[in-house]
Amino acid sequence: QLLVEMDGLSVDDDIQVLILAATNRIDVLDHALLRPGRFDRIVKVDLPAKEGRLSILKIHTANKPLSDDVELEQIARETFRFSGAHLENLANEAAILALREGSQVIRREHFMEAIDKVIMGEKLDRRPNKDELKRVAIHETGHALISEIMNPGSVSTITITSRGKALGYVRHNPTDDVYLQTKDYLETQISICIAGSIAEELLLNNKSTGAKNDFEQAIKLVKTMLISGMTDLGVVEENSLPKELLHQEMSKILKSIEERVKTIIKEHKNIMVIIAENLIDSERFSGDELRDMLKEKKIA
Ligand code: ZN
Repeated sequence: QLLVEMDGLSVDDDIQVLILAATNRIDVLDHALLRPGRFDRIVKVDLPAKEGRLSILKIHTANKPLSDDVELEQIARETFRFSGAHLENLANEAAILALREGSQVIRREHFMEAIDKVIMGEKLDRRPNKDELKRVAIHETGHALISEIMNPGSVSTITITSRGKALGYVRHNPTDDVYLQTKDYLETQISICIAGSIAEELLLNNKSTGAKNDFEQAIKLVKTMLISGMTDLGVVEENSLPKELLHQEMSKILKSIEERVKTIIKEHKNIMVIIAENLIDSERFSGDELRDMLKEKKIA
């Protein structure tokens, strides 16, 4: 329609026309629309950075009663990769949670729960059976342990409340937005990804299908290392590499990371069992409690 409207426009006419348009699906636009002389300027609006998220949160909470313990700055930090629409949704969800509780104001915990909900989906009533629950608890404890040991202070909470498609998950403490990833960072992320499955293997003697997404994620990260020239292959282009070589290098990287994760988990088996039991009881285990246990172990 825009093309039709623009047809026959000329710069010499008395009436000059400026056309503005917006889309979030530039990939499906007719190429003719983007030809020189049609839209001269294209402005890309990316996902908001922390400062942007803070401003958006201010807009969407302006008409809502917030409790004193709500720090929008902190919420902005915790919502990396949230779009404006996500943030609006978050503010509304937090208000609904407060309303449901009969609270006059929206408190910090309502926002935290709403963040979980926006990321992971609605809490499910379906509760896994006892064996499954134990497996989920061990799996998530594995993720959390490796995260905390490789990146101290990083774990916020471990939960085994089913949400969306996930049976449990580890919430991380906010850090500054990361736009550039170093090799160390990527290796740590891969370690955290595969730790759930390795914990199952070492503490329950077998693996499960629950780790499918973790592995997909880990492989994606290994590929990022590969195409960023961080492996023994040097700077390479993924598609021009023989499949076999690619496979070999990827398994080599994964194997060495796996060995490191296995060693750490073996050393912390006792702690992990205690945390898993706590999780089965109360569905939640805080990062602070985890840090206390690790400190005690060190002293012992
Ligand atoms: Zn997992």
